[in-house]
Amino acid sequence: MSDLHRLSIRELSEGLAQAKFSSRELTEHYLKRIAKIDTQVQSYITVTAEQALAQADAADAAIKAGHATTLTGLPIAHKDIFCTQGIKTTAGSKMLDNFISPYDATVVAKGKAAGLVTLGKVNMDEFAMGSTSENPHFGSTKNPWNLEHVPGGSSGGSAAVVAADLAPFATGTDTGGSIRQPASFCGLTGLKPTYGRVSRFGMIAYASSMDQGGPMARSAEDCAYLMNVMAGHDAKDSTSVQKEVDDYVSNLNGTSVKGLRIGIPKQYFNVQGLDADVKARVEESLKKLEEMGAILVEIDLNMTEAYVPTYYLIAPAEASSNLQRFDGVRYGYRCENPVDLMDLYKRSRSEGFGTEVQRRILIGTYALSAGYYDAYYVKAQKVRRLIQQDFLKAFESVDVIAAPSAPTTAYKIGANLSPTEMYLGDIYTLAVNLAGLPAINAPVGFDKNNLPVGLQLIGNYWSESQLLSVVHQYQQATDWHTKRAAIAEENA
Ligand code: GLN
Repeated sequence: MSDLHRLSIRELSEGLAQAKFSSRELTEHYLKRIAKIDTQVQSYITVTAEQALAQADAADAAIKAGHATTLTGLPIAHKDIFCTQGIKTTAGSKMLDNFISPYDATVVAKGKAAGLVTLGKVNMDEFAMGSTSENPHFGSTKNPWNLEHVPGGSSGGSAAVVAADLAPFATGTDTGGSIRQPASFCGLTGLKPTYGRVSRFGMIAYASSMDQGGPMARSAEDCAYLMNVMAGHDAKDSTSVQKEVDDYVSNLNGTSVKGLRIGIPKQYFNVQGLDADVKARVEESLKKLEEMGAILVEIDLNMTEAYVPTYYLIAPAEASSNLQRFDGVRYGYRCENPVDLMDLYKRSRSEGFGTEVQRRILIGTYALSAGYYDAYYVKAQKVRRLIQQDFLKAFESVDVIAAPSAPTTAYKIGANLSPTEMYLGDIYTLAVNLAGLPAINAPVGFDKNNLPVGLQLIGNYWSESQLLSVVHQYQQATDWHTKRAAIAEENA
């Protein structure tokens, strides 16, 4: 079969169960596509062909023996931020270029237990800091819709592999938009779960109070299958929450769009820099939801202007603390011939970290230093609380909140925006992480250059089922999520 990569997760699962094809055939199909097409997309940092084929054979045996789960034998790509036992985990940094984790991240372990086949580890912004996946150490991953554009970031590799059909689905992480924005740039569905829903154990930390893993795939239905594997309490992550996990797949039709109250924040649609095509596509998608029975309600989110400054204080502060461990002694790259300990620290860290990571470590260290701590870090935490309260107030009158996922479509590679210009591109995603809320991106059309546009729906805490269900129903009534980039149509 030459078109296995066109099947949905449900179709793949059924095809394997009915022995229409084997996991080995499916895995070989993807490995062939990767070998041919990824020379252009450049999304994989590591392809684990040998291990994948062994896992596929084991999956085929399990299916034959009758102890397969729904996803046994399906291939997946992991963002290179999730630790994988025996396989290099770089977090997109030279600092961890040769790091082989002695254990699997919980998300990876759960995937293995469910019978998933790991195709490899995919590119990202270094330590998940960024929005373009223009990685200083591993190169720029390309947007499958137009290879001159970025796939977004930081989970840009995860988005690119799915959009180019180099994996049927992928894991991503989202600290300030890194699942939703690349999903938006690549025409995919991506879910950022409620903080605490998915274990962070073995996920290399960026800003621990906001980091959250989640699924990236073509449709809400595909995401629901992966979410069923990823979600759940984990004793190894003290911030993971002991709360029953929904069956996201059986809940796909659980929320009625009829009567659903969708909040439209006034402030969000007047943002400077909001592209006219993005605005138009998002408004059209809301109109469609209205036709399906949703009620659009204008709301106020008064803290909008505070999102970018608040996040860009708290995230670097946490990053500066988390990244202290990469000292060239216990972990990471070590410089050549250090003359003394201070030289070892200094040169290992300046040679091992790229510019953006160094910038954030410096900002964070400054904000946390004695004398500035109260003025910056503590103040930002107070504003963070106000942002959360703003959302909680809004959820008293609406069920979900709609926004673009990003003010623009995918940037050109090498556009070289200044850090502040780049940070402003995160305006629509950051508040969700500051408040710990769940949110989803769904593709809703294209701009004049045929680059995808995404709609973001933000839900109240633990509303993942509702978000997936609303998007699923939108996707039953529309076909944006079925559109494929030309490169995905290529056969290997
Ligand atoms: N673009 C944002 C940043 O640079 C978000 C990154 C993320 O979610 N990991 O921090």
